[in-house]
Amino acid sequence: MTSTDFGVYVHFPYCRQRCSYCDFAVAVHPQIPHEDYLRALLHELDAKASLFAGRRAVSVYFGGGTPSLWQPECLDIALSRIAAVFPSPGGVSREVTLECDPGEVSSAQLAAWRRAGVTRLSIGAQSFSQDKLIALRRQHQPQHIVELVEQARQAGFARVSLDLLVGMPQQTLAELSDDLDKLLALHPEHVSLYQLTVEPHTLLSVQIRRGEQRPPCPELQADAYDLVRATLADAGFRHYEISNFARARPGDPDLRAVHNRLYWTQGEYLGLGVSAHSFRRLPDATAERFANQRGPSSYLRTWQKPSSQPFLLSEQEPSLSLYELRDRESLWKEALWLALRELDGVRYDQFVALHGRDPRVLCADTLSSLVARGLIEADSDGVRLSTQGVLFADEVGAAFL
Ligand code: SF4
Repeated sequence: MTSTDFGVYVHFPYCRQRCSYCDFAVAVHPQIPHEDYLRALLHELDAKASLFAGRRAVSVYFGGGTPSLWQPECLDIALSRIAAVFPSPGGVSREVTLECDPGEVSSAQLAAWRRAGVTRLSIGAQSFSQDKLIALRRQHQPQHIVELVEQARQAGFARVSLDLLVGMPQQTLAELSDDLDKLLALHPEHVSLYQLTVEPHTLLSVQIRRGEQRPPCPELQADAYDLVRATLADAGFRHYEISNFARARPGDPDLRAVHNRLYWTQGEYLGLGVSAHSFRRLPDATAERFANQRGPSSYLRTWQKPSSQPFLLSEQEPSLSLYELRDRESLWKEALWLALRELDGVRYDQFVALHGRDPRVLCADTLSSLVARGLIEADSDGVRLSTQGVLFADEVGAAFL
């Protein structure tokens, strides 16, 4: 990647029903305002495009919410406008990912997404157990996952990623093993693993308080993680990031997620839509991180008309829920931690070439403490998470703050 390569994230906040564990910025509406949301998004794009002038989009990612609920014509128009404003780098094909939920998708939609330029589907499979899907209030059944992957292949999608949720209440390792067998039978190119966490103010947290569900068991979660890692490694997957696995057989292209790798390599991105986050570098080597407000109604109000003024980034901007100016020192430390999320770790010479700072000097005390605790491994070339450290990645990250 070059310094002008960046990504565009589009958040579509609407879902049919809220899953029991979900605390994302989603809205459950019987009538989705497809065209109003498109209009608002295009106005936001026009207002913020100059913040990323000269960048080339290597990736566009439609996340949510459930972006597969958006009318394909709206998605097509949004994607075309993004492509017109931010051309892809010459000779490099753009990764365009769409998150989609099984049970919601027809063959006609899949064909329309392909025509619009979507190249990769990220499917919220989560589990192949009917009981678990019902308990989590997911909208789909196991058979819908199989049908969606089959239809996606027929429509010509060569890159399919499946999300798998582990650590669900009362999930056993035998059930997880069964989930993995069914997942592998679908031959995905990529797998993203999520540990179930109980967030406050979710239905799941209420159910646990009332004794209707058991809380996830931390010991079982560690065993579940080990089982997933071993099973996917045996099936020819490369575990390349704490929660992500890409098929890596001889002859396979690089199937790692281009968009998510932008986050881990501290690449720039523009987030459009409700609650979307952005990251922009400034000429003095500092950077800005900012995020839109969470409410769909206020988003639609803010962007219902084209902006008559140039968009000025600041803490006072009312459409933002977050604005941070990051200094160089904090960016270096963050870059080190983000790079450690990838299991290849950090090579000292590459980090120095990119950031002009040697991690061994920048974070000497943190690195030696983490080595002493067995959470990272270091040698003369670089540093990486240990097998144990992968399980305690949040703790490792917190040590760099
Ligand atoms: S489909 Fe995804 S975003 Fe929507 S409620 Fe369920 S977990 Fe949340």
